[in-house]
Amino acid sequence: MNISQWLNYAAGYLAGRCAGAGRVDAEALLGHCTGRDRAALYRDGPDRLSPGQEETFRRLLERRAGGEPLAYITGHKEFMGLDFLVGPAVLIPRPETELLVEKALEILKDLPAPVVADVGTGSGAIAVSLAVFLESARIYATDISPGALEVARENAARNGVLERVEFRRGDLLEPLLDIPGFKADLAAANLPYVPSSEIPGLMPEVRDHEPREALDGGPDGLDHYRRLVPQARELLRDGGRLLMEIAPGQGAALREILGPGWRVEVFPDLAGRERLVKAEKMN
Ligand code: GLN
Repeated sequence: MNISQWLNYAAGYLAGRCAGAGRVDAEALLGHCTGRDRAALYRDGPDRLSPGQEETFRRLLERRAGGEPLAYITGHKEFMGLDFLVGPAVLIPRPETELLVEKALEILKDLPAPVVADVGTGSGAIAVSLAVFLESARIYATDISPGALEVARENAARNGVLERVEFRRGDLLEPLLDIPGFKADLAAANLPYVPSSEIPGLMPEVRDHEPREALDGGPDGLDHYRRLVPQARELLRDGGRLLMEIAPGQGAALREILGPGWRVEVFPDLAGRERLVKAEKMN
């Protein structure tokens, strides 16, 4: 089979076995095992796969057909146009989280030397993107998972911002509240927000492969934000902003949790569903 026959075969194979998988996955996996990106696959071939490539490709197809997320198989995920390493220790960065990064950039762009905290950084997608796009920013990123911090550090290094992102292990903002006199302009949080009862109903690809500790937000999904809000109040300067990604439908409850003392706005994602809460700390 030549490349285009392989792609057709693989796309059909995946589509019949794993919901949501198809041609894009086939291209990515073939690119991965031939060391080429998508465009180069079509432009430069190879016309045929070597026996070794063929064997590798079949193995990768089988993993994908079994429901393993594409990003865990290739080990990479694109976010904000940057390349991130991912593995089973971290949630795969989602396109909707780019909205949070864009909002943070909009808020911080005119500050001469912004200080930012990224809570529960996971792969480091938010912290590293902000460091890349805000050259004068100083970023602090926390996570309770040592495995996640290792991935996040690697991502900071490969995106050239390791010296501007400081990683600290601990629960929510606790590791930063220890720093005497520390105040942040912005705290960004994509904490686990899926209600526990909804975990069994998630797509198997998410439910069976991504870390539950990165998804499960307790009975109403807002347990972590409930603990975060008072910490953020302490950490932020007056006028500082707290950005939180949420699931559609959680906006009103999170407003309630924030209570007085915050100016709150809720923003929709590209699908028009509420996804982001911005809270400005008032004195
Ligand atoms: N958006 C993710 C999902 O639906 C959940 C991310 C989170 O809990 N922070 O799988």
